[in-house]
Amino acid sequence: ADGWATTRFVVLGFGTAGYACADSLLQAGAEYVVVLDDRDNEQLREKAQILETLGAELRLGPGSTAGLPEGTEVVVTSPGIPPYAPLLAAAAASGLPIWSEIELAWRLRDPATAAPWLCVTGTNGKTTTVQMLTAILQAAGHRAVAAGNVGLPLLEAVMDPEPYDVIAVELSSYQLHFTDSMSAHSAAVLNIAPDHVDWHGSLEAYVKDKGRIYENCQVACVYNVADPATEQLVMDAEVIEGCRAIGFTLGTPGMSMVGLVDELLVDRAFVEQRASSALELASIDDVTPPAPHNVANALAAAALARAFDVPATAVRDGLRGFRPDAHRIAHVAEVAGVNYVDDSKATNPHAAQASLLAYEHVVWIAGGQAKGATFDDLVTAARGRLRGVVLLGQDKQVIAEALARHAPDVPVITVEATDTGAMQTVVGEATKLAQQGDTVLLAPGCASWDMFANYGARGDAFAAAVHRLGDAQG
Ligand code: ADP
Repeated sequence: ADGWATTRFVVLGFGTAGYACADSLLQAGAEYVVVLDDRDNEQLREKAQILETLGAELRLGPGSTAGLPEGTEVVVTSPGIPPYAPLLAAAAASGLPIWSEIELAWRLRDPATAAPWLCVTGTNGKTTTVQMLTAILQAAGHRAVAAGNVGLPLLEAVMDPEPYDVIAVELSSYQLHFTDSMSAHSAAVLNIAPDHVDWHGSLEAYVKDKGRIYENCQVACVYNVADPATEQLVMDAEVIEGCRAIGFTLGTPGMSMVGLVDELLVDRAFVEQRASSALELASIDDVTPPAPHNVANALAAAALARAFDVPATAVRDGLRGFRPDAHRIAHVAEVAGVNYVDDSKATNPHAAQASLLAYEHVVWIAGGQAKGATFDDLVTAARGRLRGVVLLGQDKQVIAEALARHAPDVPVITVEATDTGAMQTVVGEATKLAQQGDTVLLAPGCASWDMFANYGARGDAFAAAVHRLGDAQG
C-alpha cells in the first residue's frame, strides 16, 4: 500500500473512466494524483471540486495536456485517447508505465478476496455475451455482475466493499491496449472484423490488442472455431500452465468444444474426456433472438460459465430468462404482414451482415458514418436475401457502390433528407419494397452521429416511424 501513497500518478482524460480512476487512486491512498483534460466546463468543474476535496489536483482547459507534470511516474489513461496522442506517445517514449482503467482495477483488487474475472472481447456481440454470462452465473446462485465496457465501471465492481463471487467483464480493444498484468480466470474473443483501425494504427495492431485478453489466462481461452484469427490469438498467448483452448461452434463440436447437435447447445469440453461424452446445456429455443450469431454468443457465454464450473441447468435457466438490450435485433411490430426489426446497434458491416443473414427475405435499411469500412463482403454474402435496400446518411454512396458492384439487380432507394422526418420517408420507401412475410431490417452498418445523437435515438426514430405507419394503416 506504501507504493500507492508515494507514487506520482497522472490521470489523462476526465470523462467517466478518468473520474473513476482518480477517485479509486485516492481511495487506495494515493497522495499525488493530477488529472489532465483539455476540456473545461461547468459540469467538469463540479466533478473536479469533489476530487479536489479528496486531495487530487485538476488541470482543465486548453493547454492542460501540453506536457506531463514534472516527476510523473505512472500515467492512467482513458479509452477515448489514442496511443499516438502526443502526451501518451511522449510518456511511452520516456518509458513510463501507461495503465488503462482495467490495468488499474486489476492492480487495486485485493488478491485475498478478489472475484475472478471472466472476460469477453470481440468486434461484435460483447455486451450481449457478457449479459448472457451474468444471467447464467446468477442462475447458478452466484453474486455476479456485468462490468467494464458495460454495466458497472470495473473499478466500482472491484472496490465494492461486499465482494462479488465473480465478475463478467466486457473489454474493448482500447482498454486492452494498455492492460498488461491482468490474469483472467477465463477469456473469450468472439470474432474479429475491421473496426476502430484509426485508433490502433493498423488492423494488425487492433487484432493484437484483442489478443491481450488471453495473456496469463488461468483456466480456459475460449475462441470462435469459425474465425481462425481468434484461435491464432490463443496459440500466440502466454497462458498459465494447464489453461485450455476451448472452441465454440455453430456446427457439431469436436472434443474441447461447445457447439450444436440437433438444435441443442452441447458441451464437449467440460465433461469427461471420452470420445463419446457430450452434455446437453440448453435448446436453441432458449436463446432470444434465435439468430445464428446470437446462438454463437450464447455458446461463448456457456463455455465461460462452464469453465467456472456452472452446472448445465443454470446455463439453460440463465439463457431462458435473458433478453438483449434495446436496439439489438429488437422486434418492433408487424404491419400488414411485414416484420420490422430494429438492429440500430449494428454500427459496422460485420454486425449488419450477421443480422441480415438471420432473415430469408429482407428489405435492408443502411447508412450513416461508415468510418472507412467497406461493404463488399457484406453485399456478397447477403445479396440473395435482399428484396431491396433503402440508404440514408452521410456515407450512403459507399454502400450504393458496393451494391452496384455485387448486386446490380437489387432495387436501391436513396433518401437524401437528413432532417427529423427522414426516417419516416425511409420506412415508407422500405415498406413499398417489402412483400408479405418479409422483414424490414434497420441494420445500418454505420455509426449514427451524422444524423442522430446515438444509435439509440436512431432506433427510436425507426420504431416511431413504424408505429405511425401502423396507425395510418389502422
Ligand atoms: P458490442 O458490445 O460488441 O457492440 P452488442 O452485443 O451490443 O455488441 O451487439 C451489437 C451488434 O452486433 C448487434 O446489434 C448485432 O447486430 C451484432 N452482433 C451481435 N453479436 C454478434 C456476433 N456474434 N457476430 C456478429 N455480429 C453480432
